Amino acid sequence: MRRQAWRVAALVWLCLAGARWHGTLAQARDAFTVREVAPGVFVHFGRMLALDVPGHDDIANIGFIVGSKCVAVIDTGGSSSVGRALRAAIARRTRVPVCYVVNTHVHVDHVLGNIAFKPDRPRFVGHVRLAAAMLRSRAFFLRQYAGDLDQPPSADQLIAPDTPVERELELDLGDRRLRLRAWPIAHTDCDLTVLDEQSGTLWTGDLLFRERLPALDGSASGWLSVIGELGQWNVRRTVPGHGALTGDLGAALSAERRYLLALIDGVRAELERGASMQQAIQRVATAEEPNWLLWDSTHPRNVARLYQQMEWQSDPTN
Ligand SMILES: [Zn+2]
Repeated sequence: MRRQAWRVAALVWLCLAGARWHGTLAQARDAFTVREVAPGVFVHFGRMLALDVPGHDDIANIGFIVGSKCVAVIDTGGSSSVGRALRAAIARRTRVPVCYVVNTHVHVDHVLGNIAFKPDRPRFVGHVRLAAAMLRSRAFFLRQYAGDLDQPPSADQLIAPDTPVERELELDLGDRRLRLRAWPIAHTDCDLTVLDEQSGTLWTGDLLFRERLPALDGSASGWLSVIGELGQWNVRRTVPGHGALTGDLGAALSAERRYLLALIDGVRAELERGASMQQAIQRVATAEEPNWLLWDSTHPRNVARLYQQMEWQSDPTN
């Protein structure tokens, strides 16, 4: 009798544990939402978090575009688990296979989920300089973001592009063409945009930040010239690398342009008056602070990077 009671208790426990496990899975799945911003164009909007807090693997806007023949994924998130959540979201929306995984640039929050798509055997597509940039970042990713990879972390989980874009490339998804454009140095040295002609939807990667302060990892002046060119484009909607969807690309770009100009002008003025980097960090572009999120984790680094670049350029011994 007592043994039977134990069996019943064990069975009840197993059922409860099972239910809880299923509940957790369902929660994780439900938490990963995608929004269909145009027919066949799905975006998962990233969270406004810094890169060193829990949840940092889910801060970029990522998503996918569905054609009659196959799917193109655009960026894969900052961990193998975010990549898998995106893959599961695709499977819920369509039965056509994933044929392309496009990375808009090298940053960890956009590429670490690539591994989740390996079973689909897609072409991995990126800027002609992306493979080299990933190679340069490899040790840093493995050291700093080991917890975002499958355990044990290994270099073979970092998947670089096999299909480089030198300037432009068209991808055919079946009754739907994507136009990819590789840009000169701007946010990084390997920025790529994706335009879905059918819906007029532009994916800028991190060439456009909204709400969240733009992070400079390339060239501020280069970025300004790319902004100038993108501002001429006539698109219906834009998916930025971070922040909300917009129907007004020009206005979104001009907010970013204003910050970058203040950054450049401010650093130049500080260098001319012989200020230290620390002084520059305290004083440059401070009027912009109320306009942006995550100022403290991003702005000092932007100033420091630009200060070093401009100091080096202005040194007559170079
Ligand atoms: Zn980035």
